[in-house]
Parts: sequence; structure tokens; C-alpha cells
Amino acid sequence: MQIANRLKRIPPYLFIELRNKINQAISDGIDVISLGIGDPVEPTPQPVIDELCRTAADPANHRYPTDEEKGMFAFRKEVADWYAERYNVELDPEEEVLGLIGSKEGCHHFILAVVNPGETVLMTDPGYPAYRASIFMAEGEPYNVPITGDNGFLPKLADVPSDVADQATAMFLNYPNNPTGATATPEFFAEVVEFAKNYDVAVCHDNPYSEIVFEGEEPLSFLSTPGAKDVGVELNSLSKPFNMTGWRIGMAMGNVELITGMAKVKGNTDSGIFNAIQYAGIAALTECRDNIEKMMPIYTRRREKVVNTFKELGWTDYDVPKGTFYLWLPTPEGMNSVDFATLMFEKAAVVIAPGASYGEYGEGYFRLVLTVPDDRLDEALDRIKKALS
Ligand SMILES: *Cc1c(COP(=O)(O)O)cnc(C)c1O
Repeated sequence: MQIANRLKRIPPYLFIELRNKINQAISDGIDVISLGIGDPVEPTPQPVIDELCRTAADPANHRYPTDEEKGMFAFRKEVADWYAERYNVELDPEEEVLGLIGSKEGCHHFILAVVNPGETVLMTDPGYPAYRASIFMAEGEPYNVPITGDNGFLPKLADVPSDVADQATAMFLNYPNNPTGATATPEFFAEVVEFAKNYDVAVCHDNPYSEIVFEGEEPLSFLSTPGAKDVGVELNSLSKPFNMTGWRIGMAMGNVELITGMAKVKGNTDSGIFNAIQYAGIAALTECRDNIEKMMPIYTRRREKVVNTFKELGWTDYDVPKGTFYLWLPTPEGMNSVDFATLMFEKAAVVIAPGASYGEYGEGYFRLVLTVPDDRLDEALDRIKKALS
């Protein structure tokens, strides 16, 4: 049987490799602590669960979702209200908001809606691996724009060769950034809009960590940039701010043409989001915004523990990330990221993500997550201290 070439181009998903490694060790009886996967351990807020249970009992919701293509209007309206209040972004819920089964699905829909086979798509290196997969699925050609610590892990758009920029039809960006934890500025987003207009590039700003920023940083939407709606969409998600990764609900917002295109892809792929999940999503956005206020002190506390531990071990020459629940740290002098991850796993039974899995420019770094319970994080840090001293 033939398997399509587009699938063969997609490298094995990093987290699956990690998961296999963890599973093997666990089945061998080793107490492995994974700091490899960003997935909040705290439960989803109770009002969200209650609303799912209530609405799941209503037979009206057992049928195909309301407004299959775009999502329930009530959900889209709530998304628009959230964006108006939190980010000062005006959105027409009818035309400019699309419900999604998570922002990851939005990445695929965006590329399928915009890119023809063979066309260039810009993405950052390091970057979230799903972007590359989306580009391959649509038979596009990824072009890696390096992001490095000396520019705050923001791409230098002026350094993209003009022939590449001319050919590019789309671009993925993601700030607060996975894996580096870097945040963007309004000035940078203004540059993005100008670049996108000059070269006619559709921008997909993936923003699932918009709410996960530490003291001194303001939550920021790409769509608050003047002109952003002319050139792009923003994806967001309830996964990270509301501890809802398993629920699969997110949204795309912005440019009407792009939203319409993505809705067309979506309408011909799935048949929408289970109504009860959409009602639960409304409950998250209306009743549970304090969840973020509860989670940020937890992530802040854990971030301090990690930073202090590595400081004791001699890690001082890096910028502590300002957003996301990831820390992106340099590997020890002379050690590559896979060797360092292997050392951590073998000496401490702690799983970290090697930077090289996020791209060539991720080499020399590793990523660890703050989404484990405090006692497990303490134990992991103790083991790391012993392994490295
Ligand atoms: C977690 C994550 C996503 C996936 O979010 P879902 O809404 O759960 O699909 C998308 N993009 C980035 C950068 C992420 O880290």
C-alpha cells in the first residue's frame, strides 16, 4: 500500500519519541519525572466541568454542532468580548472569529487555506514542530528564519533574503514563544505588518500563551497592531490559560478572507465542535478568568525554583524567559542538546526536551516545563543538582 509522500516528509513528532522513552523506563519500574511536555496538571476549573455536564445532558446538543463551519455564535461572541476587554481588539464575531478544535488544528487550516503546493512558508527556527508538519501537509516549503538570544529570540525580518520574501505566501509566528519563552513587542509586530504588506505574506500568529506572561509583561495580541487584520489571523486557545488541553477548543480571529478560507477547510474536514464543549468554553471565558490569576503565582514560584537551582549550578549567562510555562536554557559548554538530555535521563531519570528538536538553531539549548506539581519539580531539581555536581 502507498503512503503519501507528504507524510514521509514529516519527522517523527518529538513528544511521541519522548513519550516512548518515558513509557519504556516506566514499564521498567524507574521513577521518571518528565519535564518534557507542556500540559498543565491542575484540573480544569469546576464551572467549566459543570457546564459540560449540564449541556451534555441536553439531547439538542447530541446532534451536529450549531453552525458547523464557524462554531456557535454565542461562543464566537464571547471570544470577541474577551479580545475587546483583554487586548483592546475589536472583532466582528460573525465574520472575524472562527471556533477551532484547538489552535493546532488552526495551523493546518490556515496553511491549507492559503498555500499552494511548492510555495514558501516562513517559520522561525527554533519553532513549534506542528508548523513544519502543517506546511508539509499542504506540500509547501518551509523556510527557517533563525531566532537567537542576541535579538531576544525575535526574527530579524530585514535579514530574510528578498527573493525568499518575494516567494513566500505565508508566515507562522508565535509570541510568547514555544520553546524559547520570549515575548514580542508592539514595535516588532508593527514590523511584521509592514513586512507582510511589502511582500504580500499572510501571517498566522499563534498565541496560545497570550495570558501566560510574568510580572512586568503585558498580555499582547498581534491583532492590536494597526493593520494586522489586513495581513493575518491570530490563533488562540483555551488549552493553556484554563487548563483545558484535553478539551480541544480554540479560536482563529482576524482577516475576513483568511477566516472565511479557514472555515471552508474546516467545514469540509470536521463537522464542528461538540456544542457542550462550546458551552463549556463560554463558561471558561465568562466565569473562570480568575484561573489565570490563580495559575500565574504557581508558575512564577516554580520558575524561581528552576532559575535558582540552575544559578547554583553555574547557569547565569542567559535571559530568563518572560512568558509561557517553558524555560529555555543553554546546555553546558561543549555538550550538545541530545547528549545533555540523555545525561539528564540516564543520571537523574528526568526528561527534558533537547533544543535541537525545535530546529537547527535550537541546538545548544534545552527546554523544561513548569507544568508539574511542586513536589515533583523539587525532586527533579534535587536529582539534577546531584547529577551535575
Ligand atoms: C500548546 C500549543 C499549541 C496547541 O494548542 P491547542 O489549542 O491545544 O491545540 C499550539 N501552538 C503552540 C505554540 C503550543 O505550544
